[in-house]
Amino acid sequence: MIESYLLKNIAGYIDGQWIAQADSGKTTEVFNPANGKTLAETPYMGTDETRRAIAAAKAARDTVPDVATRRGWLEDCYEALTAEKEEIGRILCLEHGKPWAEAQGEVDYAASFFSYFAGMMEDTLAPETLLEQAKDCRWTVHKRPIGVAGLITPWNFPIGMIAKKVAPALAAGCPLVIKPAAETPLTMIAMFQLLHERLDLPKGMINLVMGSSKEIGGEIMSSFDVPMISFTGSTEVGQLLVEQSSQHVKKLGLELGGNAPFIVLDDADLESAADNLIANKFRGAGQTCVCANRIFVQDGVYDEFVNKVVERVKKLKVGDGMDENTDVGPLINAAGFDKVHDHVKDALSKGASLVAGKHPDELDSGKNLFYTPTVVSDVTHDMKCCQEETFGPLLPLIRFETDAQALEMANDTQFGLASYVFGRDKERAHKLIGKLHFGHCGYNTGTGPAAHAPFGGFLHSGIGREGGVEGLMEFVESQTVPDGS
Ligand code: ADP
Repeated sequence: MIESYLLKNIAGYIDGQWIAQADSGKTTEVFNPANGKTLAETPYMGTDETRRAIAAAKAARDTVPDVATRRGWLEDCYEALTAEKEEIGRILCLEHGKPWAEAQGEVDYAASFFSYFAGMMEDTLAPETLLEQAKDCRWTVHKRPIGVAGLITPWNFPIGMIAKKVAPALAAGCPLVIKPAAETPLTMIAMFQLLHERLDLPKGMINLVMGSSKEIGGEIMSSFDVPMISFTGSTEVGQLLVEQSSQHVKKLGLELGGNAPFIVLDDADLESAADNLIANKFRGAGQTCVCANRIFVQDGVYDEFVNKVVERVKKLKVGDGMDENTDVGPLINAAGFDKVHDHVKDALSKGASLVAGKHPDELDSGKNLFYTPTVVSDVTHDMKCCQEETFGPLLPLIRFETDAQALEMANDTQFGLASYVFGRDKERAHKLIGKLHFGHCGYNTGTGPAAHAPFGGFLHSGIGREGGVEGLMEFVESQTVPDGS
């Protein structure tokens, strides 16, 4: 069992109180994916706890203080996360499995959202007087909080994903009902302990419920008192939320699945492209929505690039994230492992070649969750690894001849989250970038989102943006006030 001074309560949090027991009396086990050992048992909550959390958040709605006070909350959060980075990173590493340095980096990333929004919120939320005096009135646009917001997050960035929602939501003045993923609730509980101890929040301003996704999600979606939800997760669940949002015309922020193309043109710096690809692809063991999923390499440099990639992949050390030499940790669960396994088997059965990694017959989720980083070449569009997000350490290489062909293949997906283009000729690369249907396009970099830049997807990858001014406006409603006097 995990021991931590940031986990005094392994509990939900409703109306300013820790709730250690679910009404049902049931619990959920949280495992360390590196060794299968139980870390904790969390309360398995459902409809009734969610209803109470919503009621508490609704009651807090009219007690939300002014923007300067809220700015203080964000600054305090930033300081708390920065001061407790090592311990939060340790909890994250244990429940998620990602390497220690990545886990520590994720806490910095989370903290950056609090400092960014703290720095810009007063200016961005200031009322704006319109220049044109329509109807002989002076028009002022006020930026009001939308109301109670439901926040639902996945397991792949246990603190990063919630920070990019909580920071702008508190900045805007929205009380919150939050549901973490069942696999990684402990990092979030630790964050709540910091918020509970270090911030002077009104009771009910932040609430944490965990347990039945169906019941918690269902209650949030059917409640008139939650006008907005911000969700990060699969497109399947996102689509369900879209359906469930119709009754109360909820505002939706959805960050869903990806199928990121990574295009290497024949004038690219191949060393840099290979380094960026490895860093991008194997972060979180390939379990991120911005991980390159389809690697398109131009004919003339294909063989050379494959060699560079294989050389690097063979050096990656797989192991427990707590071991400082580990580059790639375990997958989160057997279902995640089996999906990668299935994609490799499917690619090999349809004619791809295994150029790095183990044959799938040598790997079994029944033994452990460590999947050897794998590279397959001569991949074609009909293979599952091109059609779906693998969400694991599989790197499929696809050959192309012309830029037009690369563009057509890259855009041949329902998803539109991250994409990458590598090539020295800026004009040529930007011709492609302008036509890629993706919300994020790294040019000569595999870098992912940052707090000050709006991030989100086109098409089936979602609705809305996180980070940047856009990320704050997700939680804001404009109220126009014409003043005739
Ligand atoms: P992933 O494949 O990353 O786990 P999911 O979409 O299944 O993606 O999960 C993302 C988040 O959505 C998690 O917190 C999960 O518990 C939650 N979730 C799953 N099903 C539902 C649902 N029916 N309603 C609301 N939230 C859900």
